[in-house]
Amino acid sequence: MRHPLVMGNWKLNGSKHMVNELIAGLRHELSDVDGCDVAIAPPFIYLDQAKQAISDSHIALGAQNVDINLSGAFTGETSANMLKDIGAKYVIIGHSERRTYHKESDELIAEKFAVLKEAGLIPVLCIGETEAENAAGQTQAVCARQLDAVLKTMGAPALKGSVIAYEPVWAIGTGKSATPAQAQAVHKFIRDHIAKHDADVAAKIIIQYGGSVNDSNAAELFSQPDIDGALVGGASLKADAFAIIVKAA
Ligand code: 13P
Repeated sequence: MRHPLVMGNWKLNGSKHMVNELIAGLRHELSDVDGCDVAIAPPFIYLDQAKQAISDSHIALGAQNVDINLSGAFTGETSANMLKDIGAKYVIIGHSERRTYHKESDELIAEKFAVLKEAGLIPVLCIGETEAENAAGQTQAVCARQLDAVLKTMGAPALKGSVIAYEPVWAIGTGKSATPAQAQAVHKFIRDHIAKHDADVAAKIIIQYGGSVNDSNAAELFSQPDIDGALVGGASLKADAFAIIVKAA
């Protein structure tokens, strides 16, 4: 009953030329795809170009970040209303790279969640434990804490229509994906955790897996009952690999 979502997080990659080439390749490879939602999240500077390039396709636009302020003296920032204006549908928040390199706290990420909901955008809330936390058996506690920051301020109904991406930090860009069984166990934990607040929201929410998803491991990951698609980094930069992942979903 849940429609999977495969989203490409291009991170800090691209050029005007690459945006056109990659999207042309995706349009070609994905022309007959049915039953899976597809989105790409290019860097801010290319969002408008990408929006033009995906026009009249079923590829949706995502952004990789948002500021909590709506306008004013916030040099270098981009607001939720601007992302809405440019035609974005999804916005990634809480990515581990932003938590680590930009010191984003659970509380700040909850504020970002709130401004996105207010603007009518779909938050893709990334959560996940580091390698050390995993080794210390803290995976569930970390995921629960990161989810609770949003649940406490917004309440479970705010998660309705939103997307969660479970991205174990140790699996991102390492080529070492979580096994399907490992990922499934955490996805089930996340769904059960949300269900304690609202069973209907929990049953319907899309929970993507992210972390070294590629064209050869995607199908097995997607065969798990609580894995509803993927947030893809490196493999989303190649049209053929990304298309295989989409088709596997
Ligand atoms: P990789 O697919 O390159 O491991 O990146 C995952 C990720 O961080 C997606 O947001």
